[in-house]
Amino acid sequence: MAMNAYRRRKNVLGANLKTLLLIAGVLSLIVLIVRGCLFAKTGSKTDDGGAPLSGEPLYVYDAKLKKTVQMSLEEYLVHVVAGEMPASFEEEALKAQAVAARTYTVRRMASLNGTPCGRGGADVCTDSTCCQAYKTDAQLRENWGSAYTENLSRVRAAVAQTSGEILTYNDIPIEALFHSNSGGMTEDAQNVFASAEPYLVSVESPGDEEAAHYTDTVRLTRAAVAEALNDLYQNANVTAKKLEKQLKVLSRFESGRVNQIEVGGATLTGRQFRQALSLDSANFSLTYSEKYVTVTTVGYGHGVGMSQYGANAMAKDGSDYKSILTHYYTGVKIQSIDSVFGGK
Ligand SMILES: [Zn+2]
Repeated sequence: MAMNAYRRRKNVLGANLKTLLLIAGVLSLIVLIVRGCLFAKTGSKTDDGGAPLSGEPLYVYDAKLKKTVQMSLEEYLVHVVAGEMPASFEEEALKAQAVAARTYTVRRMASLNGTPCGRGGADVCTDSTCCQAYKTDAQLRENWGSAYTENLSRVRAAVAQTSGEILTYNDIPIEALFHSNSGGMTEDAQNVFASAEPYLVSVESPGDEEAAHYTDTVRLTRAAVAEALNDLYQNANVTAKKLEKQLKVLSRFESGRVNQIEVGGATLTGRQFRQALSLDSANFSLTYSEKYVTVTTVGYGHGVGMSQYGANAMAKDGSDYKSILTHYYTGVKIQSIDSVFGGK
């Protein structure tokens, strides 16, 4: 009896399961047909206003709220461009930023064979030190105040007018790194991240000189400099009073950034020294007074890929976003996500 009852229940379940599977199958078919129609509409060669794969769901980990949310790639990009570049920048610079940010994101999308940042199980996160800067609508309203509507429409236009466009090298999305100001010359990726990419090589960046953050000077106490370096590098063993003898720039790259610097008993890269003292750039020089070390930096950021201020200077001089991107990323092509992933 018990067995029969069990079997009957199982049969009932089996029947329900079949019905459910049938319904699910029909629904999937409907979804596929509808998606197919949508794709056919937006994916036609004559309409470059909206590539289908740019509508792929993107999972974003909100580092402040500590939760993962789903949104469209294009909507995410509006908030990234708004977070990464002043909305007052030239339209063509904003468009270049949109394409670079889209490319950076696509390389992290699991659904497009990318490698996710992984925080909260998401493709990307809103922490600018891990992925890209991201400003929520509330933050934008607060930052922009009365200029909110105008600024947002500028940023939205830059994203929409480049919809679905990414940068590729050998038909693969590139690692589209960017930074604020290169100080006149960008840097080879190999010199900063120890991994070379043919499209991330040093190029001139005229116009950086005119821009904010081109140079900066910070005055640090001798004690603070010695403490920061000794904390991170025990071999350094430097003393506040002898810094001018213990800190010696050994070599610089062609761009002017420090390659190696002797720090007491240790030899650091320019990047390590920059990080230890939280400097704007690895292109620095040092002067000393009785109590202080004065550090003068040129440029702002790691210097690899597109200089945002350089992009704005090029746009002011009449370059369009494609010329800006192909200047900063050597040998790249601008392609639609669809043509790269072939409708996935
Ligand atoms: Zn991340």
